[in-house]
Amino acid sequence: MRNQPPGDPSGRVSLADLNEAAEMVRELKKPGAMARFVNWSRKHSLWPMPFGTACCAIEFMGMVGSSLDLSRFGAEFVRFSPRQCDLMIVAGTITGKMAPVLKTIYEQMAEPKWVIAMGACACTGGMFNTYSVLQGCDRIIPVDYYVPGCAPRPEAVLYAILELQKRIGNETRVLTSKERLREPWIRGIKGRGRSPKDRLLHGGDQ
Ligand code: SF4
Repeated sequence: MRNQPPGDPSGRVSLADLNEAAEMVRELKKPGAMARFVNWSRKHSLWPMPFGTACCAIEFMGMVGSSLDLSRFGAEFVRFSPRQCDLMIVAGTITGKMAPVLKTIYEQMAEPKWVIAMGACACTGGMFNTYSVLQGCDRIIPVDYYVPGCAPRPEAVLYAILELQKRIGNETRVLTSKERLREPWIRGIKGRGRSPKDRLLHGGDQ
């Protein structure tokens, strides 16, 4: 029997989900209820923007394919249209030439938006400890979830998406990317040792 991915094994929106939505609609007049309802809707309608540059992108395709079927979790609208997407999945090595493109596409995405770094290359540069490769995409954009591995299994990325959905569902307010840049854990990443190339990408030592 095929391994079941994490999450709802039936692969459908469960009755509990629908009851939860109905309950939220009934309580819309209560303070904070609208934000909860909006977040519930967001969590079930993520639009991934795959930024695939290398082998990890093939594993990403495995997650979207019929075997694991990302659409069961409401996140199947994979589009290469940043203005409609809210979840960037960085899958592959980011070279110095691709880094400005990655940053531009991230900035073109509408708020609120989230980022998953998929694989060792996207998380840290992986085995390519060289001047021409960005040593982690968090040097230029804020990352919410890191999926380790070379390449990570599609189930691992699916798990990150499910964790992100949980987090979105529990948020009482959605932080903009500028606000998230002020979060302590992001500040810590930004303070990491910078190479001249990183300084160039950031436009100076900020
Ligand atoms: S982490 Fe491994 S599989 Fe993924 S892009 Fe890098 S080298 Fe390829």
